[in-house]
Amino acid sequence: MPTIRRLAMVYALAGVDCVDVAADVAVVAAARQGVADAMIVAKRLEAQASRAVGSWDSLLPQPPHALTHRLKDDLPWLMVSLNDSADPHFRKAFFDAAHCPPDCPRPCESICPTDAIHFPDHGQGGVVPRLCYGCGRCIAVCPVDNIVAQAHLARPEDFLPEALNQVDAVEIHTHVGRQREFAALWQRLEPWRGQIKLVSVSCPDNPNIVEYLKALHHLMAPLTLPLIWQTDGRPMSGDLGKGTTHATLRLAQKVLAADLPGYVQLAGGTNAHTVHKLRELGWLKRANPLSPPLAELYPNDLGHTPHPWVAGIAYGSYARTLMMPLLETLEPYLEPWLQPWPQAANGETLGTHPSTSSQCPVPPAKEPPDRLGGLDDLVAAIDQARHLVGGIKQGQEITPSAMGKVAWGESGF
Ligand code: SF4
Ligand code: SF4
Repeated sequence: MPTIRRLAMVYALAGVDCVDVAADVAVVAAARQGVADAMIVAKRLEAQASRAVGSWDSLLPQPPHALTHRLKDDLPWLMVSLNDSADPHFRKAFFDAAHCPPDCPRPCESICPTDAIHFPDHGQGGVVPRLCYGCGRCIAVCPVDNIVAQAHLARPEDFLPEALNQVDAVEIHTHVGRQREFAALWQRLEPWRGQIKLVSVSCPDNPNIVEYLKALHHLMAPLTLPLIWQTDGRPMSGDLGKGTTHATLRLAQKVLAADLPGYVQLAGGTNAHTVHKLRELGWLKRANPLSPPLAELYPNDLGHTPHPWVAGIAYGSYARTLMMPLLETLEPYLEPWLQPWPQAANGETLGTHPSTSSQCPVPPAKEPPDRLGGLDDLVAAIDQARHLVGGIKQGQEITPSAMGKVAWGESGF
C-alpha cells in the first residue's frame, strides 16, 4: 500500500489523468491518499519556492503554482479494474519451496521484477502475494514446473458500496469469446453505472476481436458514458524492452481501422518507445493552434463516435519499474512532509483517504520542516514520470480522453 500511495503521488504530480488500481477498498484508498499527497507536496513546494532565491521554474518540471492549480482543477481519476473471467492480470504465482530441488539456482528469484520471491532458508520461502502482479515470468523459468498461477475474479460485489464514491471509472478485462461472462458482469455493474464517469474495455488480440468488440458495444447500448477500447497487446511486458510495444500498435491499428464508436488506448507492452512510434505512424491527434478545443467542437461527444487516432496510453509494468528505485531514495525526505502511514491496532498497514480518515485514525502529523530535502530526487522522479505521461499530450488538444494512464496491476501490490 505505501508503494501505491507514492506511485500515485508522483504520477499525479507528473500530470497523469487516470490511476488504474485493483478493485480493493484499501488499494483505492492508498491511491486516493497518494493523490492527496501530491496536492500537499505541490502546495509546500509552492510555499518553498516563494521564499527561494533564484528561479525555481528552471529546477522543477513545472512551476510549483502550476502544479497546484492543475491538481486543484483536475485531479487524476481513479479507475478500478474488474475481470469477467480468467485473465493474466488477475493472478498470482504460488509455489511450495519444500518441493524445490536443493541444487536449483533459483531463476525464479532473479527474474521476478518486483522481488516478490524470497527464500529465507533452505526449503522455505515462496511468493509474497502483495508484491506479485502475475506477470508469469517465474512460472516460465522454473525447471521443474513447481510454480502455479492462482487466478481470481475481481468482482464488483466485493467492493463495498460506501467506497464506490471514491471510484471515477471502471475497466473490464475480457477476452474474445467471453461475451456471456461480459454480459453477466455488465449486468452486475448496474449499481455502479450511475456513479462512474468512464468505462474502459481491455482486450488482448485475437483474429475475431473486431466482431467481438462490436458485439460488446451492442451489449452495452445505450451507453451514456465515454467508452475506451484498451488494446492489450502483450500484457505486462513493457519493462522487457523496446520491441514489446509493437503488439499493442498492431492491435490498435486493427481497432482503429474498424471505426468502432469510442476512443482507443494502448496497453500491454507500452514503454518509453510507444509515443515515438505513435508519432512516426501519425496516429496521434495533432494540435492545430487555430482550431478550438475539441470539447468545444464536440460538446456532446461521449466517445460514441469513432476517433481515428490513439487517444491514450496505459503504462503498467514499465511505469512501476521506472519509478521504484527513485521512490526508495525519496522516501526519507518525503516522510516528514506527509502524514505517517496509519497502522491498525494489529500493526497492519491501512489505507486512508482524507474524506474517510475518521474510519482510520491518523496519528497527529509532525510539524513539517521548512524545506523539502531531496528536491533533486523529487524533480528527477517527476521528470521521469512526465516523460511517459507528457509524451502523449505534447502537440495535442487535450480532451478528457487524451489521457495517460498508469496501472499498477489488477492483482496489485
Ligand atoms: S511478479 Fe511475476 S515473476 Fe514475480 S512472483 Fe509474480 S508472477 Fe512471478
Ligand atoms: S525455479 Fe522452481 S524449483 Fe527453482 S527455486 Fe524457483 S520455484 Fe523452486
